[in-house]
Amino acid sequence: MPTPLLTRTSVLERFLSYVQIDTQSAERSDTYPSTLKQLVLLDQLAEELRAMGVADATRDEHGYVFATLPANTPKPNVPVIGFIAHVDTSPDASGAGVRPVVHRGWSGQDIVLPDDPSVVLRVKDIPALARQIGNDIVTASGKTLLGADDKAGVAEIMAAAEYLLKHPEIQHGPVRIGFTPDEEVGAGAKYFDVKRFGARFAYTMDGEERGGIDVETFSADSMTITFKGFVIHPGYAKDKLVNSIKIAAEFISRLPRDRMSPETTDGRDGYVHPIDVDADVDRTAVRLLIRDFATAGLQEKEAYLERLARQAAEGWPGAGVEVQVVESYRNFKEVLDPHPEIVENAREAMRRAGVTPYDGAIRGGTDGSRLSFMGLPTPNLFTGGHNYHSRIEWVSVQDMEKAVETIVHLCRIWEEKA
Ligand SMILES: [Zn+2]
Repeated sequence: MPTPLLTRTSVLERFLSYVQIDTQSAERSDTYPSTLKQLVLLDQLAEELRAMGVADATRDEHGYVFATLPANTPKPNVPVIGFIAHVDTSPDASGAGVRPVVHRGWSGQDIVLPDDPSVVLRVKDIPALARQIGNDIVTASGKTLLGADDKAGVAEIMAAAEYLLKHPEIQHGPVRIGFTPDEEVGAGAKYFDVKRFGARFAYTMDGEERGGIDVETFSADSMTITFKGFVIHPGYAKDKLVNSIKIAAEFISRLPRDRMSPETTDGRDGYVHPIDVDADVDRTAVRLLIRDFATAGLQEKEAYLERLARQAAEGWPGAGVEVQVVESYRNFKEVLDPHPEIVENAREAMRRAGVTPYDGAIRGGTDGSRLSFMGLPTPNLFTGGHNYHSRIEWVSVQDMEKAVETIVHLCRIWEEKA
């Protein structure tokens, strides 16, 4: 039987305040976090938690904010669970001067953004938006992204913490809270101290459509194929010079186009994706991203690319090929599967919140992918946000409230089942 809905929480007010703080992370940086402005929001969150009564909320030297809602149940055996969200926004679109716009009781019309009327959320192009008629939709104003990825998750965890503190009749075990920098540049878990966090299981609040529980991610490697030529003065190069740029070009032209590419795959199909070429006559390095839901599929793709590279080099006597593969992250399904209660409890929490849960598979990674392999099994739950990393990013206030309810119910369910 569904438990009665929570009254309105602080999630919207918090969200509107957090998105106005610029926390964009940066790809190329010598610092951690990659941009120091992320610390402004991280410090603010630690401060707000302490003001709420979460005495141990602190921000460490890397930027991570950890905090604890102490257990309020007499049961000694309730596992410590954690909720995690990232404060940074994507380098793909500006996050400076975000002006959130709340479209209350949205009527179903296309949404024209006020600061750049050429930016329009067209209902016919966004099926998830068409399902939100009558709800309150938050967008940016046209010049920036919104930052629902992942300030929706941050606001939801904060609102749930506040709600639990105000409602001590809801019994729960120890609940850990973690806010992280630099997720968007693939480094959110880099200095995350799993032992100090001290949770048995955690949930990232970093998904999208209401009801989504991401139980799978891609497995990911990066691969560098280096073509080695032979350089000599071009005026006297006959029968001696080998130009590695031409070999690399031939390799790239042999890459599949109608399959195994990000632009021609979806669902459960993986891909290979050249992202960078560092070229001169002597040596040319081609960097590729390799993605597949199965680790064996990664290895097949890597073997295939190596064959293509060697075939491309065959026409140039004296040319060399070197291959290097670096593991990026792995599908966290194999870590989650031995603990089915993690995902089952999340499904139950959503049902109690009146939300229909569904399993998702992310064509990418989350902080949870790395954390899971660092010893903290961490699936990813919905936040209600959509069209991430773009100026047409939006979030449903009603779905954010459902995410807050899901967190509250989850804390209660782990206590009940202990
Ligand atoms: Zn995110």
